[in-house]
Amino acid sequence: MTNRSDNHLFNNQSAAANEARFRALVAATSDIIYSMSADWRVMQQLDGRGFLPDTAGPITDWLPKYVAVEDQVKVQTAIDHAIAEKRIFELEHRVLQSDGTIGWTFSRAVPILNDQGEIIEWFGTATDITERKRIADELREAQDRSEQQRRLYETITSSTPDLIYVFDLQYRFTYANNALLTMWGKTWDTAVGKGLLENGYEPWHAEMHEREIDQIVATKQPFRGEVSFPHAILGKRVYDYILTPVLNDQGQVEAVAGTTRDVTERKQWEEALAQSSEELQAINEEMIAINEEQVASNEELSATNEELAEVNQQLIEAQKDTYLATKQVEGAEERLRLAIDAAQLGSFSMSSTEDAYISSPRVKEFFGFTADETVPYQMAINQIHPDYRETVIRLVAESFETGKRFDMEYPVIGYHDGKTRWIRGVGTMQHDSDGKNYFTGVLNDITERKQDEQRKNDFIAMVSHELKTPLTSLAGILQLLTRKIGEAANSALPGGIDRAHLQVKKMITLINGFLNVSRLESGKIQLDKETFDLTALLSELLEEAALLGSDHRISIAPCPPVSILADKDKIGSVVSNLLSNAIKYSPKGKEIMIRCNTDDKYVYVSVKDSGMGIKAQNIDFLFDRYYRVETNHTQNIAGFGIGLYLSAEIVKHHGGEIGVESESGVGSTFWFKLPKSPAASLSSVDQ
Ligand code: ADP
Repeated sequence: MTNRSDNHLFNNQSAAANEARFRALVAATSDIIYSMSADWRVMQQLDGRGFLPDTAGPITDWLPKYVAVEDQVKVQTAIDHAIAEKRIFELEHRVLQSDGTIGWTFSRAVPILNDQGEIIEWFGTATDITERKRIADELREAQDRSEQQRRLYETITSSTPDLIYVFDLQYRFTYANNALLTMWGKTWDTAVGKGLLENGYEPWHAEMHEREIDQIVATKQPFRGEVSFPHAILGKRVYDYILTPVLNDQGQVEAVAGTTRDVTERKQWEEALAQSSEELQAINEEMIAINEEQVASNEELSATNEELAEVNQQLIEAQKDTYLATKQVEGAEERLRLAIDAAQLGSFSMSSTEDAYISSPRVKEFFGFTADETVPYQMAINQIHPDYRETVIRLVAESFETGKRFDMEYPVIGYHDGKTRWIRGVGTMQHDSDGKNYFTGVLNDITERKQDEQRKNDFIAMVSHELKTPLTSLAGILQLLTRKIGEAANSALPGGIDRAHLQVKKMITLINGFLNVSRLESGKIQLDKETFDLTALLSELLEEAALLGSDHRISIAPCPPVSILADKDKIGSVVSNLLSNAIKYSPKGKEIMIRCNTDDKYVYVSVKDSGMGIKAQNIDFLFDRYYRVETNHTQNIAGFGIGLYLSAEIVKHHGGEIGVESESGVGSTFWFKLPKSPAASLSSVDQ
């Protein structure tokens, strides 16, 4: 650059001349001018131009004075390099500005060479590039930031399934995200910068968006729409989109940004939802109906529940009752057992269906078995005296059939010992909880009583027999006397004899009664049957009763003649007994009515009085031997309680039946019926 002669010239110039040249240079440029020694150790001069502090005389500490500490090495290195190469020094570096802050300069120094080519001095300029550097830095930072943002947005827009795009005002795409490019099946380069038609939009669709962009530019308001069009991969889809104005500093629309969302599935969901909403509504209605039903059945249920609770309560109470009842039954059973034991009674139970016969050890003893023997029903029955056996069997069967109480006294001949024992058996038929019928009862050994009775009967029979002969003679004598006296026509005596005769007759009746009882007891009663007219017999007996001197109004209802085959005397005694009872147990003057009736099989006779009547509780026992109703009234009426017993036995022996209807204080009607046909008679059994 500088030739040798210049250098020489320069070298030979005076300092003043140099100074003058330097000044001229300074004046000619706005840059900082400096001059350095050949080795850059000394700075001769520096005009800082207000940017850097000036240096008027030579200084050696220029490096720390002017160069920022972090660039000092770099500057020194560049200097060393320039000196070694003898070439221009050129470097941008930081400097300490006159105000103490750090600035930037572009420094350039040219070496001044002498004739020998040696550097004798350096001239340099430094330009203040602080502002440029700042702007460049800012630019770089801005670029960095925008790059960072771009990456961020890219990340966001590329990872969303939504379509994101920007139009310029010529309807060209200036941005399209990955999703949109994928939808178009295009790349950034082939799509961006292109319009709607070029990117495959159908004309109607492109025009629609262009109109919308115009509208947004005009109104600066966003626009929302829904559109359906085919997708490259997914087929026909429904999209929801929003176009938003992008405003510049002046508030004018410079672009239009948009986002579009595929709402096909949402639409399908909505439709499905609407559909299922209808279904839901239907289901709801059904549910309401079901609910109502439920409520109704709930009410029913709760009513049933209440009923159940009530039944339950009743059950609990019944259970309590049952428990108590069971306890009571158990207690009663225990007491009964004790009583049975104490009374030395035997007990038995027998089922109708299975013939299951259970008897207590005592029963077995009664029948002459040992207590531990197994005794079936038939074996026990076989030990009953043959005269009574059939009757027992019949009455047990009857009890099963009709539920009638069995009560019978019968002799038994001991199985092992052959001894005769009298037994009273009492039994009833019972329905058990298992639905079967059981005949249960107790047996009592009445042998001793029977023997007592027998002795008494024997005695009565003997006395009666002994009395009967003289009484019969007495009656005959009285009869003879009546006749004789009547012939003598002595008026004073006949009445007395008649009364004597009457009393004797009563005594004979009584004695006959006793005799009949004893005959009955010993089974020696005999029926002397004959055919006779019952109506005629009744008339006779009525007259006889009247003769007995009764003040009662005794009458007989019109009765057709009825001929029957029976023991006339005994039937007569039955009617007499009923008549005399009617007289005995009703006040004088009262009416007594005899009635007679007949049907195919039976004749019926009844004696009705209007007397004292009989209480219901006594009726069952009237026909028992020696039974009398005991009242203050009856105490004064003579009787032994054998009349009805004998009557009943006689009627039964004829195969008939006897009974009474009575009301206490009103009167009684005693009746009996006899079979017209002799075949119905039981007399054969008893003979
Ligand atoms: P009696 O010798 O005691 O009359 P009965 O066997 O003839 O014996 O009668 C038995 C009992 O029946 C009587 O004691 C009496 O209490 C009652 N009786 C019988 N007939 C009648 C009647 N017509 N009116 C009221 N009670 C009667």
